[in-house]
Amino acid sequence: MLSHPEELMQKNQALSNTWRRYQAAPSFESFVELAVSINSFTEFLIDKSITALHHASHQLEQVTLALFNKDVDHPLPQSALDDLGERVRALARMSQAHASATAGLAEHVHDPHHASPNAIRIGQTWLIAQNRAAWAALEAQLGYFGMAAEFTTWEHPLPDSAGVAPLLLLDMSSLPETEWRGRIQALRQQFEMGQLICLGVRSDFEQLQQVLSGGCDSCLLEGTPPHTIIEHIMELNERHEQEAYRVLIVEDSKTASHLIRRTLQENQIVSEIVNDPRQTLNALKQFNPDLILMDMYMPNCTGVEVARIIRQHNEFLSMPIVYLSGETNVALQVDAMRLGGDHFLTKPFNPVFLNTIIMSKIERYRALRRSMYHDSLTGLLNHSSGKNTLDMVLSGVAHEGSFLSVVMMDIDHFKQVNDTYGHPVGDQVIRSLSWLLKQRLRKHDVICRYGGEEFLIGLPHTDAEQAYAIVDRIRRDFAQIKHPYHDTHFLATASGGIATYPLHQTGDALIKAADEALYKAKRSGRNRIRSGDD
Ligand code: GH3
Ligand code: MG
Ligand code: MG
Ligand code: MG
Repeated sequence: MLSHPEELMQKNQALSNTWRRYQAAPSFESFVELAVSINSFTEFLIDKSITALHHASHQLEQVTLALFNKDVDHPLPQSALDDLGERVRALARMSQAHASATAGLAEHVHDPHHASPNAIRIGQTWLIAQNRAAWAALEAQLGYFGMAAEFTTWEHPLPDSAGVAPLLLLDMSSLPETEWRGRIQALRQQFEMGQLICLGVRSDFEQLQQVLSGGCDSCLLEGTPPHTIIEHIMELNERHEQEAYRVLIVEDSKTASHLIRRTLQENQIVSEIVNDPRQTLNALKQFNPDLILMDMYMPNCTGVEVARIIRQHNEFLSMPIVYLSGETNVALQVDAMRLGGDHFLTKPFNPVFLNTIIMSKIERYRALRRSMYHDSLTGLLNHSSGKNTLDMVLSGVAHEGSFLSVVMMDIDHFKQVNDTYGHPVGDQVIRSLSWLLKQRLRKHDVICRYGGEEFLIGLPHTDAEQAYAIVDRIRRDFAQIKHPYHDTHFLATASGGIATYPLHQTGDALIKAADEALYKAKRSGRNRIRSGDD
């Protein structure tokens, strides 16, 4: 399997190649190929959460799509060619820089000492403001979440040594509004791959337009509390590792189905073709797609009939169906949609549009399914899927003859937190511990919200001693987090218990032993981690 940096370079190379092909033979067809390739690159960056390059790639996509029109002659006017060329080259430069900056990280993912948190990767954080004291609370909180910020004022521009892809938090309220756009543009130029987050912006059309058009990634309105700012940064940088999207193509024409398949492949969408619609149910069960792309007219039946048959099965009730057909009869399209279709695309299709529709439908479908396995407050695995995942990880570890440490973590005296500050504030405390866990643990670790303020953690390839070091560090940092309450703040602590495979052999036995160790930690004074295996 390719690592991210290699894959990134490969995808970027593909984009540069289509650009060269367009320059060599400028035609509408080669421009479509270029647009598809840019779209595919942008989707790749989103998929891998490479936020550092996303801004530039998205801009290139927008510029290209604006030229995506049959009325535009090819070759494009020189000014458009120069602009596109410059953007393609900038992306290549940035990909190279990003790939070399992250090349070493892949190994750390398996580092049992958890030296580098892999769940969230951001470069050096900078806070640019006038009055540092006003941001003291935010600075402190950033520190506890491992994103300690360097401070500078607007008068002292950032050194180029600020890092390849720094996270820049900009206090806009401390700068005259007339300077906003220019300042953001300059920072965007200096740090092409930086993440620019504007703070202290009023909910006012002109202000928002200024900062967004200047090239910032997002804005947070004035008065946004520190924990919301941190949550926003976490969400921006969270990695949504996921499996390739799967599409079932039901289409009698072999030529059409292969053309569609090739287009989908450009975006790493895996597809399977059914040429005989009567095979649809079998294929659905075997292939387990995220979406069905349905031809309207086929020899034995119409697409609408197939859709109705599919919808008789409960397990496929919410599966998106997109019709693809030469039919331009609006009345028929309305009928098709009413009978269980989600979208209607007419042939010949615009490949970028086809990909975008499919991706967005699948995203929504997957989000729906995700909500079944994940907890809504924290986004972590819920109780039952956490236990199932732990069992799966355990069987892998047992097969390899390795270790698995299981940790039960529980917030101390949480009833008092609720009673004193209220349930919503209690929820925020639960979320801050879950952020800390997500940020500190590795991709292959299991993190689950096991109960109200209780977390189940599975650390594969980690013995009890290593697990203790990791979890105790998290415990200490959690105890430092200042939870805001009105104008003041309070602290909370957590305790944890560890049990390790192979000393305990099953998932249930591990959980029970970790729970017993947690109980010991509570009884001996709380705010501590105990290993049941000492
Ligand atoms: P200990 O140190 O022994 O763990 O004391 P504790 O007060 O934390 O005790 P316990 O674990 O029994 O209490 C858990 C409390 O958490 C009880 C329940 O009202 C509260 N709780 C459970 N789920 C939620 C939730 O989703 N949000 C909030 N705010 N509170 C919750
Ligand atoms: Mg047909
Ligand atoms: Mg508790
Ligand atoms: Mg509890």
